[in-house]
Amino acid sequence: MNEFSEQIVSELAAITPFKILKSGKSLPVLLPFYHLVSDQDLPFRNNYNYPSVAHFEADLDFLLKNFRAISLSELVDGGDLSKCFHLSFDDGLKECYEVVVPILKRKGIPATFFINPSFVDNKDLFHRYKASEITALLKARNIQLSLQRTYADLDSLDEMAEEIGLDWEDWLAKNRPYMTLEQVKKMQDDGFTIGSHSMDHPEFELLDEETQLEEIKESMEWLTGKLSPGIKAFAFPFTDFGVSDQIFETCYRENIFDVSFGTAGLKKERFPFHFQRLAMDQGIAMTPKKRLKEVYMAYRLKAIFGKKYAKRF
Ligand SMILES: [Zn+2]
Repeated sequence: MNEFSEQIVSELAAITPFKILKSGKSLPVLLPFYHLVSDQDLPFRNNYNYPSVAHFEADLDFLLKNFRAISLSELVDGGDLSKCFHLSFDDGLKECYEVVVPILKRKGIPATFFINPSFVDNKDLFHRYKASEITALLKARNIQLSLQRTYADLDSLDEMAEEIGLDWEDWLAKNRPYMTLEQVKKMQDDGFTIGSHSMDHPEFELLDEETQLEEIKESMEWLTGKLSPGIKAFAFPFTDFGVSDQIFETCYRENIFDVSFGTAGLKKERFPFHFQRLAMDQGIAMTPKKRLKEVYMAYRLKAIFGKKYAKRF
């Protein structure tokens, strides 16, 4: 059923001009996000897609042709943003500074970068990258293994690394996958905005509410202390699935963040300062036009057929 629905979306999208799909004032603001852009093969990123430089630039050119690029403060200011997009990047990888920022500067596109304080300066590595790196290393030794790779398995991942002689400190010193605080500060000086992405990227649905709140609070305090951002922005790691209204209400009441983000695609939200973003690196097999046509067509079908139909996407 799922496949059938996706096929219908794809076929309808193919025959409908994008101009028509993106017209109308009631559409949500488009918030595309990526993790990194690189022409290199990065084994620790094997579990995830990422676009090449050429693909990324084609995405940006398509976005610029069809939408107006806005800053985080313009997003927060609100109004009719249905013809606008705000770009963001998660996880604080070094390619953001080395590859992405020069391209954005050249094209004059504002963006927000969401970073994890525990990983800044290469102090530690995200558990899913650890799993991916271990898998790649074992594969090179002809061992095929499908790893458990949630936050809850962090200890077993570290034990496994030790067993196969993989020292994360050495690995981090050699590979330096993340940005340094100095690089992040330079980006901020250049006008880019920096937000928090939790301390160390846990799956929030695996945490109790107290720990969820701690992850948000601690990381936002770190961000405020180190970077004093004008707007306090938070992007939930993975998704905001499993995060209760109470958490949002506490964050607004205690002024923990001003604005927050999930990853549910093109979607309107119940809180005015909570937004959903679209994972562009999940659609890198498609041209940006095809990808966005399908996203907008799916949104429109959901609007027509309601929640029952929406569940299939
Ligand atoms: Zn992330």
